[in-house]
Amino acid sequence: MHINSDMFWPEIVDPDTGAPLPEGELGELVFSSILKEGVPMIRYNTHDLTRIHYGKCACGRTTPRIEKITGRADDMLIIRGVNVFPTQIETAVMRYKEVLPHYMIYVDRINNLDVITVKIELNPSAFPDTMKGLEKLTKSIEGDIASITGIHAKVQLVEPRSLPRSEGKMVRVIDSRFKK
Ligand SMILES: [Zn+2]
Repeated sequence: MHINSDMFWPEIVDPDTGAPLPEGELGELVFSSILKEGVPMIRYNTHDLTRIHYGKCACGRTTPRIEKITGRADDMLIIRGVNVFPTQIETAVMRYKEVLPHYMIYVDRINNLDVITVKIELNPSAFPDTMKGLEKLTKSIEGDIASITGIHAKVQLVEPRSLPRSEGKMVRVIDSRFKK
């Protein structure tokens, strides 16, 4: 996506320090307004995570471009030192017609190790009817999550409509690590 940088100057900053990051690195998108008078916006932090590119685009435009937003910095989970986004897990889940797009991510710390469990509802009209088939499906989804995120998550297939439904903004992550 092109940014009209003569009106809004975009920068990508480190989510922890706020320091600008080099071209192509993943960080939080901040904007400063250039033409606005009276209430200028200086480094307004969107908390959206993306990368910025300044080179000339194939379409001919020369303004900076940002990549598709990968997620919000607030949604990011750090599992055993690896940055994981719930949307990455969703990508893996959505590949399977045997499950519904209803899932919950549970994170806990057991014996000083981050443990992540993904509960996914089975699709009543498409799930395998043998234990062996269910095991194979579980392993396959675990493999996809591992290849997308780089971490091992335990997958638990559960009955349709057995996971909590939240109203308004979906709550997908229950992180119990810091509540003890
Ligand atoms: Zn372009």
